[in-house]
This record gives sequence, structure tokens and C-alpha cells, in this order.
Amino acid sequence: MAQLSLQHIEKIYDNNVQAVYDFNLDVKDGELIVLVGPSGCGKSTTLRMVAGLEDISRGNLFLDGKDITQTPPKDRDMAMVFQNYALYGHMTIYENMAFSLTLRKEDPNVIHKKVLAAAEILGLTSQLNKKPAQLSGGQRQRVAMGRSIVRNPKVFLFDEPLSNLDAKLRGATRREILLLHKRLQATMLYVTHDQTEALTLADRIVCMSMGHVQQVGTPLELYDKPNNVFVASFIGLPPMNFFDVRVAEGRLEGTGFSVELDAAQKALLAPYGGKEITLGVRPEDIDEGGTIPVDVTNNENLGMNTLVHGYVGGNRSVRISAKLRGWANHKAGDATMMRFKRMHFFDKTTSNAIRKEDN
Ligand code: ADP
Repeated sequence: MAQLSLQHIEKIYDNNVQAVYDFNLDVKDGELIVLVGPSGCGKSTTLRMVAGLEDISRGNLFLDGKDITQTPPKDRDMAMVFQNYALYGHMTIYENMAFSLTLRKEDPNVIHKKVLAAAEILGLTSQLNKKPAQLSGGQRQRVAMGRSIVRNPKVFLFDEPLSNLDAKLRGATRREILLLHKRLQATMLYVTHDQTEALTLADRIVCMSMGHVQQVGTPLELYDKPNNVFVASFIGLPPMNFFDVRVAEGRLEGTGFSVELDAAQKALLAPYGGKEITLGVRPEDIDEGGTIPVDVTNNENLGMNTLVHGYVGGNRSVRISAKLRGWANHKAGDATMMRFKRMHFFDKTTSNAIRKEDN
């Protein structure tokens, strides 16, 4: 069992840079949590505080109810997988995987069993006598995971483990991590700047910006009901389109376009009558044939979809990207009409979502 609880955790580095503000999270036993956000938002710092590699400036960390805020890393029963693998080049794969257990002076027979079992899980059985240099990037990443597995830690910590792999291998290794998580049923904390990794791996995502947690929720919650403009723009690819619009009688008025509101939307936006709000529309929620005039600048055929980029209402500063189903054939300079199948609304002052909370 491994429940992790981060309570009001903050990090202020020696140079007075505050990297993390009031981080609160209860990680359930066996949960895979992904911390996601742009570079510098404080995700690695948070992970390193959990590992004990950085001091916690304020707040408390609990593992299975025990306060481990001051516990040295080696006594925390956690294992970290780094992006650079940190393997020993002069040792075989077997020795690399056995290393921490050898250091702990475990019985060689027990070590042997654990290494073989981990190698089996990771498909590395035939590689055990090789040196790291003889392995591919993906295999080395698996060895790094194997080193963690043999220790049977309470919590696995991953710091951007896939960022050194090429795109194809990243996808495959991501699926392996997911299978590993299912098989081990282990509590895992995983850091990435890649929203695709977050959406595909996480039981729950923690989305961060500038040291602050912006939203915690399932991938679907963050995609479907982003708390604010930041989460809405960070989760989803290509990113959501944003438009400045004014709430008018029964409709939204943008620059050179307007869209009708249904009864529920009218009620929701009634308090904003006459005011400006931010309208968010995902590229995949845009279709052709509507009332929004678009001047096409690019047409990218991706096979099952086409990305059409352009500007709205004759205004070159209002950009739009639409992800249309199938093979569209627009040329730069084409004029077309589009419609929004689904809209998100945000308060312009706070950038928070305007939506009805379902109870
Ligand atoms: P991320 O993992 O999201 O890229 P980090 O946690 O590495 O972000 O960094 C968060 C902030 O803390 C950044 O502004 C970074 O410059 C700063 N920072 C990271 N490590 C240190 C350090 N050792 N000393 C001072 N500032 C640091």
C-alpha cells in the first residue's frame, strides 16, 4: 500500500526563487499521477521534493500517514527513473539492475530472482549480459525502469523518462509504462511537459503553471472542463482557439463574426450581458458550413484529418485553426464558412471558466 499526501508544499530556492506554491494532492494507492506544464513551472522541483532530493521549504509530505518531510531520500522507499537513464556504462545490464540490491547486501539468490523477474516483465531477458552501449534508447529506458522495479519501492517517480526517445519509440515506451503500471499496481508520480503523455498515461493530471497548480482531475475533466484559459490552451493539440467576444442579445459578437447562443448558454452568460468575455473553441469542435467567415492560409492533410488554418472575419489578427474530418482541399486564399460545434467561455478578467457546475 502506498498513499502519498502533499500538504501545502512550497519551495523557495536559496536565491529566493519560489518554484512551488501551496501544492496540495492526495495520491491514492496504485494511482498514476502525471504532473504536466511548460518548462520551468515547478514540476521537477515538486517531484524532487517528494523524492527527498530537494528540501521542502514549507508544508508536509506523508507516506501512508507517516510524516516523511524530513526523512532522507534513501529511507523514503521510493525509486526515481530519470530522463538520462543514469546507467553505469562499464556494468552489464544484469549488474546495473542488481546494483542497488548488491549495495544493500541482499542475498545473491534473492537478487538473482528479482533481476530475472524484472527482466521478464520488461522483455530484457536476452539482454542481461550486454553493456548499456549495446542497447537501443528504448531498451536503456527499460533497464532504468528495471532498476526501480527490483527495489520494489512504495512509490515510483518518473522525471521526463521519454524525452530522450524519438517520437515512434516514445509512443511504444509510453504504452509499456502503462502496462507496467497495470501489472505492478504501483503508486506512480510522473513528470512531463508533453500533454499527450499526460492525457494517455494519467489516472489524474496535475496541470501547473508558474509554480501554481491550475487544475487536478482526470484527463477527460481537464480536456472537457478546463478550469481556466491556461489549462484550456495547454491540454489538447492543436491548442484551443481563443476569441475576444462581446455578449450581446442572444449571441456573441466577435470581430467580423457572430454566433448564436442556445437557451442554456444565454442563461449562463446573462451576468456578462454587454461585457467582453473570452470564447474558446477546440480545433476539433469546428466544422465547415456555418456563419463564420474564414480566409484560409494553410491546408495540412494528415490523412484522417485536415488542419485548416486561417483568419476570421477578414481580420488578419484573429487566427483560427480547424481540425476537419477527412481530406479537405483548401488553398491559401480560399474563403470558406465555418461553425462552432462546441464553445467554452472564460471570464476575461480572471481567465477562469464560466460554466455551470454540475452537482
Ligand atoms: P520544470 O520541471 O517544470 O521545468 P523546475 O521545477 O525545474 O521546472 O523549475 C521551476 C523553477 O525553479 C524555475 O524557475 C527554475 O529556474 C527554478 N529552479 C530550479 N532549480 C533551481 C535551483 N537549484 N536553484 C534555483 N532555482 C531553481
